[in-house]
Amino acid sequence: MYIIINLLLQIKISLLSWISSSMVALSFYFVFSVLSGTDEAGSTGPPPLLLVSFDGFRADYLKRFPMPNLKNLYTQGVLVEQMTNVFITKTFPNHYSLVTGLYAESHGIIASNMYDPDTKKHFRVSNNTDPLWWNEAEPLWITALDAEYKTAAMMWPGSDVLIHNRTATHYLPYNSNMTFRERMGNVTKWLTGDGNEEGVKFAALYWEQPDSSGHKYGPENTTMMGQTLKQVDDDIGLLMSQLKVAGLWGQINVIITSDHGMTQCSPDRLIRLDKCLDPDNYTLVDVTPVAALIPKQDKTAVFNLLKDCHLHMTAYLKEDIPERLHYRNNRRVQPIILIADEGWTIVQNGNVLPRLGDHGYDNSLPSMHPFLVAVGPSFRQGQRISSIESVDVYPLMCHLLAMNGKPNNGTLSRTRCMLAGEKCWDVPLVIGLVVGVLLLLTTVTCEFLGWRRPRSIQDFQRLNEDEDDDDPLLE
Ligand SMILES: [Zn+2]
Repeated sequence: MYIIINLLLQIKISLLSWISSSMVALSFYFVFSVLSGTDEAGSTGPPPLLLVSFDGFRADYLKRFPMPNLKNLYTQGVLVEQMTNVFITKTFPNHYSLVTGLYAESHGIIASNMYDPDTKKHFRVSNNTDPLWWNEAEPLWITALDAEYKTAAMMWPGSDVLIHNRTATHYLPYNSNMTFRERMGNVTKWLTGDGNEEGVKFAALYWEQPDSSGHKYGPENTTMMGQTLKQVDDDIGLLMSQLKVAGLWGQINVIITSDHGMTQCSPDRLIRLDKCLDPDNYTLVDVTPVAALIPKQDKTAVFNLLKDCHLHMTAYLKEDIPERLHYRNNRRVQPIILIADEGWTIVQNGNVLPRLGDHGYDNSLPSMHPFLVAVGPSFRQGQRISSIESVDVYPLMCHLLAMNGKPNNGTLSRTRCMLAGEKCWDVPLVIGLVVGVLLLLTTVTCEFLGWRRPRSIQDFQRLNEDEDDDDPLLE
């Protein structure tokens, strides 16, 4: 009798052990599936892709203002609630990161105002078409030409620059007088093509709002920002209707995003450099909220005067810029940079606040983050993702276009869950399930070993000791 019960006990323990290891193996299979996924490129070629940037669209505008068209759009696709962009959180660096997947130190457009020490040239937003500045990277509208795709760049920073001696198939240089309707009209024509020419496979479209109003009124001006965002939302409605009229809706992948957010500034939060340092001691390449300085003589002496200049400004020697900012390894990053705290403005002197709203601050600040919405046949429907990085958009777009991109700082693993047809599980949920199953099995096993086995043996012993005892458990 003892041998039989012991044998049954061993069988049960083995069974539990097998179930446990099977569950662990199954769980790891699911986790692996999440991380690895599958590739699906249609045999007839991928759908066209339209990338749209609404400059300066801070992520929380989506919660603060009613945007019915944008909400209608993302309920049919994917909403990324906020996107960590690249430092410095300015327009040109971030637009080039979106189409190259590179941090600013890697693509070379490190600011809106730059100085190149090798060529002694200056870069300004109003004077930016020298290929020298852009040739350290290659935007998607150029690389996609090598995949035999036609491409278009509508006023996106760099659109009209001969990058590696090429431009997109169709492009227009920046012209603030051209309305959103006109820009979108051109892009739609480029996407559909005409009888003689096939449509483009990739188009990038730039629009300067709500950035302009954000600078002018500040993001806390609910009345004025409300009017601006109503207009932006109307433009998104126009975009959808133009794509529908052209027969592209449902056939095209659309990504709507932005380059950075915006924060409120104040004349009460000015940092005056002249209070710490004579202007004859340095050349100022860029001013605020990240100042770039070239000391004229003793770098250490200049730095020492700046490092304790103001409680709300941090000074760095180039070599000491934190690694997380990815802003050290480029010759255009100047020997000293100064970073203002959120909402503070660096000026050389005086009491004039240049802008009521500004951006460019540390890219870890939520106010600097934009959002992203993606909709189309390649995307899941009704999906929400809390965060990705802006350098991830490039590998996502290469995947959508079934083409090899250039080396980049992003990863498809963070955006894979946006894609339809992927074996996608919520990784924290899966890990929670694995831990839960293991805990359950541990509890069951302990119960079995610690309670069930002694009771069985005791019962057996008791029966041996006193066979006449009718029912001792009732004592
Ligand atoms: Zn911008």
